[in-house]
This record gives sequence, C-alpha cells and structure tokens, in this order.
Amino acid sequence: MLKKHNFGAGPCILPSAVMEQAAQAVINWNGMGLSILEVSHRSPEFEEVVLKTQLLVRELLSVSDNYSVLFLQGGASTQFAMVAMNFLSEGKKAAYLDTGYFALKAIKEAKLFGEVDVVATSKDKDYAYIPDNFKVDAGSAYLHLTSNNTIEGTEIFDFSATGVPLVCDMSSDIFSRKIEVKDFDLIYAGAQKNMGPAGMTLVIAKNEFLEKGKKEIPSMMDYRIFRDNMSMYNTPPVFSIYVAMLNLLWLKDQGGVSGIERSNIEKAKLLYAEIDRNPLFYGTAEVAHRSRMNVTFQAIDKGVEQAFLKFAAEKGIVGIKGYRTVGGFRASLYNALPLSSVAVLVEAMVSFEKIYT
Ligand code: PMP
Repeated sequence: MLKKHNFGAGPCILPSAVMEQAAQAVINWNGMGLSILEVSHRSPEFEEVVLKTQLLVRELLSVSDNYSVLFLQGGASTQFAMVAMNFLSEGKKAAYLDTGYFALKAIKEAKLFGEVDVVATSKDKDYAYIPDNFKVDAGSAYLHLTSNNTIEGTEIFDFSATGVPLVCDMSSDIFSRKIEVKDFDLIYAGAQKNMGPAGMTLVIAKNEFLEKGKKEIPSMMDYRIFRDNMSMYNTPPVFSIYVAMLNLLWLKDQGGVSGIERSNIEKAKLLYAEIDRNPLFYGTAEVAHRSRMNVTFQAIDKGVEQAFLKFAAEKGIVGIKGYRTVGGFRASLYNALPLSSVAVLVEAMVSFEKIYT
C-alpha cells in the first residue's frame, strides 16, 4: 500500500517502524502468546512498560528528580479543568494568556473554580501573534500558557520568568524542540501528536507545586494520587502508553529532542519559504511567532483554495485543510513527518502555480 503524505493535525502521522512494532504487539506481544491488548496492567511486563516510558520522558526532556511524570486520561481538555481544580479556588486568582481556541477553552474551565485574569490576548488580530509585555499579578496561583496554538499556527519561543508558577499546555509541540522543564511547574500534553496514539495525557509536574494542590477533590482529578500509584490508580490506557514507549525509543534514535528539532526547523523553513514566494498563497501568523508544528496559510481566493485541495489530494497529500472555523490550509509537520513529504507539498505548490496562473 502506498502511504499518503499525512499533514493531519492530530491524531497524526507516527513513524512506520512504530506502527509495525505496535501491530505485531497486538497479535503477539514479545512472543508471549498474548496480545498487548489482553495483558493485565498489573503484570510485571506492563509495569516495566510504564517505568520505561517514564524513564524515556525523563531522559529525552532532562526531567530532574523533583518532578513527577504521569500518564493520565481524558485528554488535554481534562487538564483545562484539572489544573484549575487542583490549584485554584474561590478567593484565588490565576493568570491566563489568551492565544487562541485552546487557550480560551482552558480559560472557560478555570472560571468554574476561581478568578481568572486574562493578562493579554491576541484576539485583535485573529490570534496571529503571541502577546508580550504583559504583567502578571504576583499573587496569581499560576500563569497558564499554550506553547503551540495548533489551530492558529503560532508558537511561544520565549518563556521569560514572571515570578509565578508556570503551567503550560504543550499538546502540540512537546518533544519537538528543546525546553527547560525546570522553568515550568506543570506541563501537560495530549499524546496524539508527537508522543503516540490518542488516549493518554502526559503530565510533568514539580512535586513542590503538586503539594500546593487542594485535598478535597475527586481521586481521579488529584495528581498526587497518580504520582503515588505509578499512574496506575485505575486501569491506564495500556495501548497508548505502550506505543508512546515505542515512539519515544524511535525519537531517541533520531538524536533525541535536539536531533528532531533540527529536522523540524528544516521542514518548517522549506514550507514557509514556498508560502512566502508563491503568489497564490500567504501565511497567516506573524513571522516571528510562526509555529514549526502547524503551518497555517491561506489561498488568495476560494477558487484557488478548492482547486489546490483537489490538486494536492491527487498527489497523495492529506490533512492540509485548515480547522473548520478558520478555513484555508494547515500543514502539520509533526516529528514523524519526513522532510520528503514537505518537499512533495512544496513541489505541488510550485507546479500548481504554473497550471493555475
Ligand atoms: N490543547 C492543544 C494545544 C491542542 O492542540 C489540543 C487538541 N488538538 C487540545 C488542547 C485538546 O486536546 P484533547 O483533544 O486531547 O483533549
């Protein structure tokens, strides 16, 4: 079967070697005569998978011992509420940076638990940039950021200290570039972009910060319960964790996060250069804040948009349609997408220009 060039925003492309290993494990895991899908999560074999996956996260992101690495469920969307439920309460205030669709969802959930101070917004320009020079009240329980705005195609490159604990939604750029975990008190990310298949949510949190969390909350919403039970307070998303382990091993083979970052920069440069050159298209995010993961662009009119979507599909290019509320195009260049697929998209844009103009 000929593989498509998959620019989907998530769930997204994973390395084919990982898919093959995962497929084998569904049939017969490690020659045990059992599928990974039918093995108890309490078995020593699966406990080893959890441990190994945690160690890979720690190694790839240089996570120090005073942080916990947790595998939760409910997606990043549950984290919107869980963060606030743990660290915000009546009479307390948390700061939020409004950089788009998912940041707004986080803000909506946080308002259920306490006061939310939206310290800045880029709504005035349809979220085409990341606001800076905002002030954070020193009394805020935390500042919440969205490091990569998956729909709008912007990314934060400067995480300057603000004096309050930093909480960051890294769903769409975790493991794509180097970060200093020690700058953050809590990081969360849905797995289904650069980590593995949907179903698991990664949380990396400073233990000292977790201790500040409220006690009178449901067990399933309490980070400490998961920390104290090796992420197995209840049945974990077994397959998602297993495939994440395979994918992180693959990432290690690519030279780890710094190796993949070099490749991600190269991919993004190639595509943005063509968007800027080709008179039929234009980029939507401000240049300094352009995301390396989700490249958002528009065609000069609807006719060009429809014609290019069809043209690209004929070349096996899928997943480039922009988010339903935004339109236009979005090409996601996650870790597993090869440079050769970006080259195919760029060649399609070049040849489309010749035909269309
Ligand atoms: N935050 C960001 C930045 C996202 O890209 C997404 C999903 N694409 C979410 C949150 C929501 O994640 P989930 O679907 O895992 O709840």
